[in-house]
Amino acid sequence: MTKISELIAGGTSFSVELWPPRNPGAEARLEQVLSEIEPLRPTFTSITYGAGGSTRERTHDLVVRIAREGVMTPMAHLVCAAHSKDELTGILSRYRDEGVDNILALMGDPPLDATTPLARGELAHAIELVELAKEVGDFCVAVAAHPEGHPQSSGMEADRNYLAEKLAVADFAITQFFFDVDYYFRLLDDLDARGLDKPVLPGIMPVTRVRTVYKMAELSGTQVPGDLMERLEKVADMPEEVRRIGIEVATGLGARLLAGGAPGLHFYTMNESVATIEIARALGIGAERLVQLPGEG
Ligand SMILES: Cc1cc2nc3c(=O)[nH]c(=O)nc-3n(C[C@H](O)[C@H](O)[C@H](O)COP(=O)(O)OP(=O)(O)OC[C@H]3O[C@@H](n4cnc5c(N)ncnc54)[C@H](O)[C@@H]3O)c2cc1C
Repeated sequence: MTKISELIAGGTSFSVELWPPRNPGAEARLEQVLSEIEPLRPTFTSITYGAGGSTRERTHDLVVRIAREGVMTPMAHLVCAAHSKDELTGILSRYRDEGVDNILALMGDPPLDATTPLARGELAHAIELVELAKEVGDFCVAVAAHPEGHPQSSGMEADRNYLAEKLAVADFAITQFFFDVDYYFRLLDDLDARGLDKPVLPGIMPVTRVRTVYKMAELSGTQVPGDLMERLEKVADMPEEVRRIGIEVATGLGARLLAGGAPGLHFYTMNESVATIEIARALGIGAERLVQLPGEG
């Protein structure tokens, strides 16, 4: 299969994050999203992973299915949390044997209901999982970057040093979502000052629901700018207006990132494709002209 680092080197990257479905309703929605996203020919599709037991196999199954279908290049998220080193070695070996070449190595957050000493996982930080993946197979390994700093970090300087340490071993990074491009370009400057120039794909989350974005921003330590909050609050009970503002803001953000030299854009789709397709169209990325949106035709 193809290594994503090689695809990114080939031109502006356009990628999407999807969740494995948790119930039959979500399964049907995912099928719809896959059928709408595939024609966009994303550079790659990343599949999230929950440390809690029940979602583990669903990530594996979706990644392997996408790999076998051969239309999109999948990247499997994997986390240290709630796993022993042996378990992680087993998961990585299975992916290697099934021809999955791309892994996003994360610390992960312990499952909310976890009470065992293993809740945090035997490997303490993402860098140890990057190293393990490189030992187990010839994987292309990506890592997470936090432009505004990781919410639990002891300070920005330390956070950047740890990021530089793991990116030195990994192949590229994907950022947490943010609304202010300055955070992204400052992150690149900080990595440059540490001698690193590996690709860092900015993560974009199109706002489609006000409450969801506040919750995600709180969890990830992302600041929602005051003027955006004000605009969203005014239309909070008008879903179409919220979506319109979300698409407008994400399109502007994407345009500034690409104009500033970002190697591509990574979309947190929340398993909803229409906003991402509209933004891709507006920016002229992906095979967006081939895609028909519901109601068009
Ligand atoms: C693109 C992306 C995708 C994600 N996908 C998922 C997913 O599928 N499933 C999921 O559960 N979570 C996911 N997350 C969330 C992620 O797991 C959390 O943000 C997590 O809290 C941090 O992960 P990390 O890999 O950046 O951790 P790390 O790199 O381990 O960093 C975590 C914290 O530890 C500090 N640190 C790092 N290395 C060291 C060290 N050697 N010594 C001391 N401190 C250190 C860092 O400064 C930081 O504060 C994703 C995040 C991003 C940005």
